[in-house]
Amino acid sequence: MSNKVLVTKATLPPFEEYIDEIRSIWDSHWLTNMGVKHKEFQSKLKEFMGVSNVELMVNGHMALEMILQAFDLKGEVITTPFTFASTTHAIVRNGLTPVFCDIREDDHTINPDKIEDLITDKTCAIVPVHVYGNICDVEKINEIAQKHNLKVIYDAAHTFGESYKDMGVGNFGDASIFSFHATKVFNSIEGGCVCFKDENIGRRLYNLKNFGIRNEETVEAVGANAKMNEFQAAMGLCNLRYLDENIEKRKKLVKHYQELLDDIEGISVWHEQNNVVHNYAYFPIVINKEIYGLDRDEVFELLMKYDICPRKYFYPLTCDFDAYKGEFGGAHCEVARKISSSVLTLPIYPDLEIETVEKICKTIKEQK
Ligand SMILES: *Cc1c(COP(=O)(O)O)cnc(C)c1O
Repeated sequence: MSNKVLVTKATLPPFEEYIDEIRSIWDSHWLTNMGVKHKEFQSKLKEFMGVSNVELMVNGHMALEMILQAFDLKGEVITTPFTFASTTHAIVRNGLTPVFCDIREDDHTINPDKIEDLITDKTCAIVPVHVYGNICDVEKINEIAQKHNLKVIYDAAHTFGESYKDMGVGNFGDASIFSFHATKVFNSIEGGCVCFKDENIGRRLYNLKNFGIRNEETVEAVGANAKMNEFQAAMGLCNLRYLDENIEKRKKLVKHYQELLDDIEGISVWHEQNNVVHNYAYFPIVINKEIYGLDRDEVFELLMKYDICPRKYFYPLTCDFDAYKGEFGGAHCEVARKISSSVLTLPIYPDLEIETVEKICKTIKEQK
């Protein structure tokens, strides 16, 4: 076992608890196809997230691909390049054209003041990202979408368990997708879900995730396969019991990071937004080389020397991926480019030791 401190560590429930949860599967031999665990997890999530409709998916990426497909979108989608590969890939894999909008300097979410300039007669939707668990300006985005008759589908992969103005974060826009990947704040090994407003979309989503099969003799749509299996759902059920406790532990670590790093000139640390109950999934810092002395890559190397493995989330911008060769533009996203080359996400997970946080902060402080 290496002693490396990674940026995240998958949360697991007590071993015996998971074994108890999956025991009944050995009686039923029902491993997938919307079994008992799937049903229970779906209904628990609906209640927990405070939303009216939830559809479980095999992972967050398929959740996004399927919901984009369910809305039968054509044309251009306004989104940001400061995100995980999945967001842009899901748009492109649906035959849609991503139109990149710049982000805000303070919370790194899409800059709503720059959206309208990008709207053309081909624009069909906006796909903003609640990046690092920072909630987008949902009010302004909603206004713009209403005015121009656009769908809004949030990539809410980072925000499981969050609320804004006492509303579960899955309630904004026409739909939101969540990821329950092992590296996220809450996991079902792999997994994800879509929260959505329109019940008709639910039928389409179900068809897309299950070959369009309604019963033995009726196949009503050309669906794919994106079902969550019983072992995933069982892990989700177990981990859900520990989510509040885990978020509380993360919060303590973040407070500690903030305290120790806040007064270092040239380092700006992540801070809570107003009216948001956060999940403390990520702890990004932005490094200003002119003031701090070292650039982001140098801080990265420095920490790696001490077996601390931060991540350059999100670098490069998705518009700069080799896969896209600049095909969809994005050169004008100056703030995104600046943040992407100066941001570093530091290790955070519930049982990260406070001494490790102190060691990381000391290393960053003493280098100054
Ligand atoms: C993790 C993630 C996804 C994809 O989720 P998976 O469950 O890994 O498929 C999508 N968007 C963002 C922003 C993510 O971080």
